[in-house]
Amino acid sequence: MTESLRERLEQLRREVERELETANGPARVEEIRVRTLGKKGALTAEAKAIGALPPAERPEAGELVNAIKDALEAAIAAREADLAGSELSRRLEAEALDVTLPARRRGQGTRHPLSIVTADLLDVFRRMGFSVASGPEVETPWHNFEALNIPAGHPAREEMDTIYLAGRDLLLRTHTSPVQIRVMESREPPVRVVCPGRVFRSDTPDASHSPYFHQIEGLWVEEGISLAHLKWALVEFVHQFFGPDVDTRFRPSYFPFTEPSGELDMQCLLCRGGGCRTCKGTGWLELLGCGMVHPAVLEAVGWDSERYTGFAWGMGVERVAMLKYGVPDIRMFFENDVRFLRQFEGR
Ligand SMILES: [Zn+2]
Repeated sequence: MTESLRERLEQLRREVERELETANGPARVEEIRVRTLGKKGALTAEAKAIGALPPAERPEAGELVNAIKDALEAAIAAREADLAGSELSRRLEAEALDVTLPARRRGQGTRHPLSIVTADLLDVFRRMGFSVASGPEVETPWHNFEALNIPAGHPAREEMDTIYLAGRDLLLRTHTSPVQIRVMESREPPVRVVCPGRVFRSDTPDASHSPYFHQIEGLWVEEGISLAHLKWALVEFVHQFFGPDVDTRFRPSYFPFTEPSGELDMQCLLCRGGGCRTCKGTGWLELLGCGMVHPAVLEAVGWDSERYTGFAWGMGVERVAMLKYGVPDIRMFFENDVRFLRQFEGR
């Protein structure tokens, strides 16, 4: 009797173990457990049947059933742990974060070509002992015109027409020269400053005009300053900025705030003076305007024009950038086309 019970139980164990092996999830394992060890399970039925056996056979039968029960419980627990483990590894794999993967590069911006040129220009003048000053873009007509020897009705006002605000009490500055006035108003001589900044004109945009552009102006006032200082400083600037072999020439000109006034030309960088389309066949490029500070300007800020003399100059940053990089149209600086803007850093 116990032999046939032993065989049945062994067979049950093998079947359950086989089923557990192929069980592919916790639900299937639970179903096997209920079917085997539950209240109406196969092994439970065998345990109940022990009571019907002759008393002599019961202890051995009970031992057999208990042994199989222990074995199956252990097998079920092992399979459950197995499945939980593989479920964890599956999730770990699916949600894996590969920390060795290179980070995605962020597009890095570059400085605007006008910022690069401005910084380079200021560097040259700083090395020559100039400090940097700035002033407001919205100016009074006094600082923009009158103090610079451009009284109301002067023809130069027409050339430098701009946008007026607050009736005609304020205007968008037409040049950076008012910064020179503000510097002189707030200090005592000597002064040696460069003034970079944005300026405005009522110009219609074309290849060489823009209603706003940038200037850098310089001013050096001190006792004993002469035209020779002007010439030295500006030729030195050209040589430091464009190269030591670049030829220069001064031409007489007119500005209300300087006397005498001049224009500084530099040798064309493309043809080296031979004549080309950029220099219109002359071999020369206009670079900047300059001159000795007009006594009326010094008097306007209360400085003694008998004692102090000085020189000033101004140039367009866009013009310098166009010459330096060979940019054919001033509007390209303001269109925000990154394909254009990206080309200048490091050149
Ligand atoms: Zn040329």
